[in-house]
Parts: sequence; structure tokens; C-alpha cells
Amino acid sequence: MKKRQRQGIKIIDVQREFNAAIVRRDRMCVVRDGTPCSGILQCSHYYSVGANGVLRFFPDNANTMCAHHHAQYHAGKKKFYTDWYKQDPLREVSLELLDAFRWNTVRYTQPLLEEILRACREDRLYDVGLMILAILKGRDPVAFSDGED
Ligand SMILES: [Zn+2]
Repeated sequence: MKKRQRQGIKIIDVQREFNAAIVRRDRMCVVRDGTPCSGILQCSHYYSVGANGVLRFFPDNANTMCAHHHAQYHAGKKKFYTDWYKQDPLREVSLELLDAFRWNTVRYTQPLLEEILRACREDRLYDVGLMILAILKGRDPVAFSDGED
């Protein structure tokens, strides 16, 4: 089997930029369960990155948590996170959309990764969401490009 050349933008590097942009957006841990926060702020994905590739760069699927609450969430406290989503009027529809989207797949081409990377570095997370939505609607995400390559 021919070894595949890995060059250009790696998806894990784009993920790191996306996660950092999420933390810059939220600025604080979203968990309000009465227990104190501790540790550094991290990006938490409602639907995990590994199992739901279509949602790994979807802003409404990502929130900032302190390391303590992030660890708690991944230890099985999903209910409080779901409740938090549902009590946030801006997120309620999104949660339904996330459920509908999660089983789709996205092929992250280099131009698309480049677009996502640039948008994350410029804190244009809304644009990243639009790119993912465009793919899900069957349109070409590169159409959102300003033409640079
Ligand atoms: Zn916290």
C-alpha cells in the first residue's frame, strides 16, 4: 500500500485554531451547576469530534468549559449540558439541528480547511458555521472563498 503523503493543512491544526476561537468567543466556562470552576479554559464539543466529524467545526456544537467541568462532562454528566443548551434561547433550535446533522459526513478538502483555519484565526466563527451548513445543503463550500488559494 502506497504511503499517503501528508502535506498542507492538517485537520488537527485547524481543530486547535477552532477550539481557541471558541474559548475567545465564550471567555468563560459555560457550566453553572453551583460547583466552582478550576483549571484552564478548554473547548468542549457537545457531540464529540471523533464520532461526529460534520460537527467538529460547527460553532453551536462547541462551548468553553474549565478543565474541571470539561472532565466532569466527559465523565457522563451530559444531562446538565443538555439542560443548559435548552434553557439558552439561542441554542434551542441549534440542538435540534445538531441532532439532525450529526450523522452526515464532510470531506475536509485543503481549500475548505484553509477557509476554516482563516475564519477561526479572524474570529469569524459564524462564517465557519455557514460553511458547514452550505456543505449540508449540498452547495460548494469553496463558494464562500474570497478567491485566494
Ligand atoms: Zn467550569
